[in-house]
Amino acid sequence: MTELTASPSPGPDGGPTAPGAPAVPEPGSGSAALLRAEGLTKHFKIGNTLSQRTLHAVDDVDLAVGERQIVALAGESGSGKSTIARLLAQIYRPTSGHIYFEGKPLSSIRSRADRLRYSGLVPMVFQDPFASINPVFRVSHGVQRSLKLHRPDLSKQQRQDEMLRVFDVVGLAPAADVIQRYPHELSGGQRQRVGFAQALATRPKLILADEPVSMLDVSIRIGLLNLMAELRDAAGVSILYITHDLASARYVADRLVIMYAAQIAESGPIEEVLAHPKHPYTQLLLSAVPDPRAPLGVSAETDRGEPPKVIDPTPGCRFRGRCPLAMETCQTVTPVLNPVAAGHEVACHVAQSGAEVEAF
Ligand code: SF4
Repeated sequence: MTELTASPSPGPDGGPTAPGAPAVPEPGSGSAALLRAEGLTKHFKIGNTLSQRTLHAVDDVDLAVGERQIVALAGESGSGKSTIARLLAQIYRPTSGHIYFEGKPLSSIRSRADRLRYSGLVPMVFQDPFASINPVFRVSHGVQRSLKLHRPDLSKQQRQDEMLRVFDVVGLAPAADVIQRYPHELSGGQRQRVGFAQALATRPKLILADEPVSMLDVSIRIGLLNLMAELRDAAGVSILYITHDLASARYVADRLVIMYAAQIAESGPIEEVLAHPKHPYTQLLLSAVPDPRAPLGVSAETDRGEPPKVIDPTPGCRFRGRCPLAMETCQTVTPVLNPVAAGHEVACHVAQSGAEVEAF
């Protein structure tokens, strides 16, 4: 593999720090916030004009990703994780709330050039590689296109050299051979690496990786998780890693954010949250992670209900219907995130009371 090099920085923007921004999560290296979301909310109108209702896809989410940091955003399907990625990628406009990148609000991005610059600094890698790789063209096509679009200063030869470099970086060797192939000639893992190569070609600072390994075999997953760790450690790229798999999050992430029904239930340094999960929902997710030490034939109970579709929600904890610890307050008062340890926050009335929470 080619040695990873840090992306040349376009330099600090010098913009104002976001007012009232949430504390930057500490992975242990004192990293500064690269991207922040505050009060991020996305609602969709559903139904017809006679009976219009509101689907709450994301509700009042505060999130921060530091430099050289992998933040895992975890939760069941429909919890709002992918909607957050699309909001951060500017595919969706937020209903309300703010996103700051390097201290500057995205709402201040007006020109096509600035939008292009942001999409190069914060590219997205999709769950299905075919979402970003055109099956009609050789795999070199997407990378060449990204280079032409985002780095028009490069000569034809420089583009070719850069393309070979990014293919080599993501472990697609020999790069000169791989770039000649069509997507259907590659394995699922190789196609996903092409997705990362396309993202790297734009010299990103933060990659939004939306379940990039969930469609791959376990043996191939490890290789891609290692690639993400290398991109962080050697190239200084931050990653928002969206997943429903806590085991892979633990393998690669610095911080963990647990989503439930459009809201954040718990967040903190990954080892702290996994060692001391406070929210009953986090405990439920952990109980579903297979334990290789468990006797054969003993499996965790996982079938304890479904996450709700959040349509015109009433106040109260959204997990109350599945929570064995639910009390009267939980029926009417929505819990908000509050610290329970250094950098560790939880939105649960019982956990915040200081009681030992063991729901599952
Ligand atoms: Fe359970 Fe109440 Fe905590 Fe919600 S706030 S997770 S219902 S104890």
